[in-house]
Amino acid sequence: MAIVEALQSNGARRLSIKNPLSGEAIDDIAVTSKEDVDAAVRRARAAQPGWAALGVAERKRIVHRALDVLMARQEEVIATVRAETGKTRVDALSIEIISSCDFINYWCGRAVKDLSDEKPGLHGFLKPLKKLRIVYEPLGVVGVITPWNGPFVLSTDPTVQALLAGNAVILKPSEVTPRSGEWAARILWEAGVPKDVLQVLHGDGETGAALVQAGVDKIAFTGSVRTGKKIAASCAEQLLPFTLELGGKDPMIVCADANLERAANGAVFLSMFNTGQVCLGVERVYVVERVADEFLRLVEEKVRAMRVGSGDDKEIGSVFWDRQLDIIERHVDDAVARGARLVVGGNRTGEGLCYAPTLLTDVTHDMAVMREETFGPVLCVMVVPDEEAAIAAANDSEYGLSASVFTTDEEKAIRIARRLRAGSVMQNDAAVIYGIPEAPFGGLKSSGMGQVHGGSRALRGFCHAKPIVLDRWKQDKEEIWYPLTERTTKSLEKTIEFAFGKVLRRLMQ
Ligand code: NAD
Repeated sequence: MAIVEALQSNGARRLSIKNPLSGEAIDDIAVTSKEDVDAAVRRARAAQPGWAALGVAERKRIVHRALDVLMARQEEVIATVRAETGKTRVDALSIEIISSCDFINYWCGRAVKDLSDEKPGLHGFLKPLKKLRIVYEPLGVVGVITPWNGPFVLSTDPTVQALLAGNAVILKPSEVTPRSGEWAARILWEAGVPKDVLQVLHGDGETGAALVQAGVDKIAFTGSVRTGKKIAASCAEQLLPFTLELGGKDPMIVCADANLERAANGAVFLSMFNTGQVCLGVERVYVVERVADEFLRLVEEKVRAMRVGSGDDKEIGSVFWDRQLDIIERHVDDAVARGARLVVGGNRTGEGLCYAPTLLTDVTHDMAVMREETFGPVLCVMVVPDEEAAIAAANDSEYGLSASVFTTDEEKAIRIARRLRAGSVMQNDAAVIYGIPEAPFGGLKSSGMGQVHGGSRALRGFCHAKPIVLDRWKQDKEEIWYPLTERTTKSLEKTIEFAFGKVLRRLMQ
């Protein structure tokens, strides 16, 4: 069953979208052509100055209303997301709705403070000479391109930030989940954001690529490494700023002193929620030998007990896309062929694209399931002699999105975290980092470029921070301006001696 299929059409290319649980066609979209992408950017550019001119307080007032709209219409959003993805109600509520409510509320709460002019004091050497003001100007038109695994929240989060910062936004949601992504715009339109200030362009990679080339001022991309590299190349050619939030292969280390019940619960949930289709999901578990038997016993028991399918009593839903299911099956088959032990699952089950929660042990780094992003309900556990071996194995990956350490010793968690080549590290948890907007978020190695979130840095990331250097003394000329005299040289020599000599240099810092 292909979830996204080309439809016969005389005019624009059309794609039909199916429900991954029932296999029924639920919608179709017209793929936006390059000409229409260009026209959308022109409309956005014309509308953006008016939006920026409202000022941050008024923009915040409008954008914040989207929270009321979302609260009122959450059931419709959930229904759309579930129809397009087959995810459970709990996954829709926690990943899509709660996170989106929190992001809208949080970014609105700090918009005025973060986007107001700053007047940082200058350091000792310059203090007597100049004054500085920094103003945060919108970039212009921001292209937001998003994936299908968290289609509503991953569209809402950057869109809200870019709008608050005074930009116009063109959102290109995934072709697998077009209407879920569109809801991010619908709640903002209903809140009062003008239609040309926020536009949604449907389509596949062709539309996304056209948007990157259409003369926007920044690209905020979330998706695969493969597409991320193409976007980076295209942006580099145009000297266009971009952020890439890409895939992961996140490791989890279980130390001998870990609370094993929590570690086992965590390993199962954090590898399987959202049907395992989470960039920050746990994809590799390294457990130290001393506690491995007990950990594996607990994990096996928990994986066996999991309920899969479409009902509200189910704990994991469908895989969202047939292409992803192909990858999951390829990884599991390859692992078994190379000697992994399939303890639980490893097969399709029930309706549509459902795949049984799967536990693999005796895995090695020769297997695709330990090297490539699997993005499915597959838990891989490797027993290692000690923590040193766990750290080395965790770092042995082309990815570096995030990582977790299960230990009851906070100091040890910090020690190990410092040695992990990952964008972020969590003690006794994983994935939660994306829900902490105060924390800078972004991957190392192939997992991304640039960071998003990070408190005051976030909205400013959608701005140009323009320093305005102001005059302090209203003199006819500065000391080093022409005409140069003997006094100029003397004055410079004296300044060096006075300011940076041993006595005063600390005051000049
Ligand atoms: P994808 O790269 O296939 O598609 C993402 C988006 O890019 C879609 O909207 C798609 O239509 C568009 N696109 C495709 N080709 C393009 C091109 N050449 N130019 C511009 N746009 C193009 O990714 P996906 O399969 O939709 O998403 C899954 C991936 O996203 C996984 O690797 C997952 O780890 C990653 N992801 C990362 C994060 C993060 O924050 N790091 C979050 C969620 C998902």
